[in-house]
Amino acid sequence: MAKKSVYFFGGGKADGTLKMKNLLGGKGANLADMASIGIPVPAGFTITTEVCTEYYDNKGRIPKHVTDEYLKALKKVEKVMGKKYGAKKNPLLLSVRSGARMSMPGMMDTVLNIGLCAETIPGLIEASGGDERFVYDAYRRLITMYADVVMEKAQGVEPADGESIRHKLEHAYDALKAKRGVTEDTDLTAEDLKPLCEEFKATVKKSLGVPFPDDAYKQLEGGIKAVFQSWMGKRAIAYRNIEGIPHDWGTAVNVQAMVFGNMGDTSATGVAFTRNPANGEDAFYGEWLINAQGEDVVAGTRTPLPVNKASKTPDQKNVQSLEEMWPKTYKQLFAIRNKLEKHYTDMQDIEFTIEDKELWMLQTRTGKRTGPAAIRMAVEMAEQKLISKETAIMRVNPEQINELLHPMVDPAAEKRANVLAKGLPAGPGGGVGQVVFNSDDAAEWAKDGKKVILVRNETSPEDVHGMHASAGILTAKGGMTSHAALVARGWGKCCIVGCGALNIDAKGKKVTIGDKVVKEGDWVSMNGTTGVLYEGQLDVLPAQPDRNPWYKKLMGWADATRQINVRTNCETPEDAAQAIAFGAEGIGLARTEHMFFEPERIIHVREMILASSEADRRAAVMKLLPFQKKDFLGIFKAMAGKPVTVRLLDPPLHEFVTLDESQVKELAKHMGLKPEQVQARIAQLHELNPMLGHRGCRLGIAYPEITEMQATAILSAAAELATKKIKVLPEIMIPLVGHQNEYKNQAAIIRAVAEDVKKKYKLKTLDFLVGTMIEIPRACLVADKIAEEAEFFSFGTNDLTQMGFGFSRDDIGGFLPHYLKEEILPVDPFQVLDQEGIGQLVEMGVARGRSTRPDLKVGICGEHGGEPKSVKFCHRSGLNYVSCSPFRVPIARLAAAQAALETPRKVEKKAAKKKAAKRGKK
Ligand code: PEP
Ligand code: MG
Repeated sequence: MAKKSVYFFGGGKADGTLKMKNLLGGKGANLADMASIGIPVPAGFTITTEVCTEYYDNKGRIPKHVTDEYLKALKKVEKVMGKKYGAKKNPLLLSVRSGARMSMPGMMDTVLNIGLCAETIPGLIEASGGDERFVYDAYRRLITMYADVVMEKAQGVEPADGESIRHKLEHAYDALKAKRGVTEDTDLTAEDLKPLCEEFKATVKKSLGVPFPDDAYKQLEGGIKAVFQSWMGKRAIAYRNIEGIPHDWGTAVNVQAMVFGNMGDTSATGVAFTRNPANGEDAFYGEWLINAQGEDVVAGTRTPLPVNKASKTPDQKNVQSLEEMWPKTYKQLFAIRNKLEKHYTDMQDIEFTIEDKELWMLQTRTGKRTGPAAIRMAVEMAEQKLISKETAIMRVNPEQINELLHPMVDPAAEKRANVLAKGLPAGPGGGVGQVVFNSDDAAEWAKDGKKVILVRNETSPEDVHGMHASAGILTAKGGMTSHAALVARGWGKCCIVGCGALNIDAKGKKVTIGDKVVKEGDWVSMNGTTGVLYEGQLDVLPAQPDRNPWYKKLMGWADATRQINVRTNCETPEDAAQAIAFGAEGIGLARTEHMFFEPERIIHVREMILASSEADRRAAVMKLLPFQKKDFLGIFKAMAGKPVTVRLLDPPLHEFVTLDESQVKELAKHMGLKPEQVQARIAQLHELNPMLGHRGCRLGIAYPEITEMQATAILSAAAELATKKIKVLPEIMIPLVGHQNEYKNQAAIIRAVAEDVKKKYKLKTLDFLVGTMIEIPRACLVADKIAEEAEFFSFGTNDLTQMGFGFSRDDIGGFLPHYLKEEILPVDPFQVLDQEGIGQLVEMGVARGRSTRPDLKVGICGEHGGEPKSVKFCHRSGLNYVSCSPFRVPIARLAAAQAALETPRKVEKKAAKKKAAKRGKK
């Protein structure tokens, strides 16, 4: 028997189940599931994603067995709905929609009202109680959609004059409205629409050279093919590339009985979220439009009404909601909302239609949400016992925390600023940038490093690349569920929609707002949380996640779950304080060279570099000692007893002496040398491959006085605090060790300095560790030998990736785009750790290191230490901690907790649990 390709649903029954997402797509599986739990869904059937592949293998033809199957399913639909497809009396109309495994909102095509033709039109007029206006409006929508999606796009029929058919038909429609002096679709009469439909058909024939099919079954076949075809459409491919969705998954096709929200003033359509998708509040939230089709709500061409009080914006106080207008229907909708949340145990994004006061659910799917909303919903659902705490931890994408940590427009600056306009707060946070009016410009400007605000009447899926590149998105039309709002929220972008005061002249690249004109390149600032648009470039403030109770709770649960520590990379007391506020448990990397660049220090650094004798160099180096000691005193105090890993000087020295002529002269004068002598020494420092040159421990080996000075600064700061009974835990880290003898050489200097410091401060003991970066592949190979000496390891995965791949970390930009485009690499290996290759070096380093020192403390301080996938890898590889920049600390904490839930560490489980519980209590 051939495998099943078509799955029926409706009338309280379904062939498919929720588990069949891969086969039926998200929408198809949900429709099946909804039907089977008794939600009122119009009957229909789903053609599987496998057929999509078959369709492409079959050169764009629907296999016969599939056609046979769907015609059978159609019979069942007719039975449940009590209507007949293509019939003269009470005809059934169909919608044809896409539905991939993962939601791709608005990226593929849909055709509605399929089945309207000369044969069925009179029957529908009769069934609608003689509403000719409604029927011809449905017909003109069908012709427009079909000609555009099926005939022009999918069948590739080129318009004779190059102007797209949709444009032509919409233009004719707008012209008719203008002629009649009306703005609303519903203001046109049947007498207007009937001849318009005839005109449309003539235009289609003339422009595309083929007639609009007047046959219900031909229309159905065309619609199904068009959906398959749209899987490979430009915008769908672009979206999948951005979201990382595989191209070979294919889409399912959902064919479903049409129900009409535009059948007069007792019909309506709406979109709702079972909880507020912007802030996560447990309040049913939605928008609806009377006498409209679903596309009207999503397209944002009419500003929708709130479904209830909770959905009203402050200026909608006097607007009637669904709850107030049709309380019975609202009650039914609200009951379905509760049923759906209980059933799916997650926030749902639902579409509904009310046909003559009868409520139908068109779709439900897990709703996209902002980061703050994701956190609040997860925590509140766990507290409501809808989900477990573990599920709550797993449900928040660690990267989403970013939004909470994101800057906001400074409220003080907002008070002084000129308000340009107010719209709907569709994506929270602050967005400041220069105005552009189309998505290509947005992408182009962003590439040049500019911050841009994309200003559009409304956005469409064609705009995704520009939206992605923008710091903020601002639209004149649309509601909270419009395309711009949905996409922006999915990406956590600042977004304001429905900003009606904008009068946009996209061609002239300017927008008029009242008496103000904002031109391309002008700065504006957006507060996406309140929906206010300001003139000019306002200051932005860092976020304050600690004022968010749900965030605090979730992070507490995460801390009680994770089995590894999270430290931070920083080198100033201010950053250290920020990192502690974000939950850092120590410093995993303080790059001391960052401390050398202040004006009063750099001169001594340069003197040290240019010195011609050891005595001169020592004299210059020692001038840096008081500065360095002060730095460490500040950091140690800020970290209050938490471990602090200080790395000795690492970069090639020439980085400090890239000087222009006047700086050379000044330095020469300071050192009592001739400018030519300074130039000559700088020239001497030039290296062909500085990243593989005289850097890291090689500096301290050639110039031991540098290591001596740095060790003295670290240890005397520690000793000074120890005498004051302030707890400190310095860990001195030697960079770029590849051979155990390099380590021995530097460690000996440090230990000798420690003895001197102890004597000087009259201390019997001084707590500190000496360890090394593991960032050279050879170090991983001989980690056992290095660990005989070193007390800790910290993986420098930036250099390890550089040297493991042989990719210069500073020059990868030249070829990485080609690598990504050709799919040679899935991602930038400097952002996401290459677990397959570089990961092996890490695992080897850990195993070999611990073979000679079982209690070896191991961490990571490369950029990967704050990237969720890499953090999870570190957990699995047995590291004790990850270290990352302060703003990534919360992300790493959550990722570490998820790793512990996904792959709990068995060996230390008990001890780790105790430790984690203690952490969670803090
Ligand atoms: C590393 O190489 O991963 C590292 C943390 O050091 P740096 O980036 O300073 O070379
Ligand atoms: Mg390094």
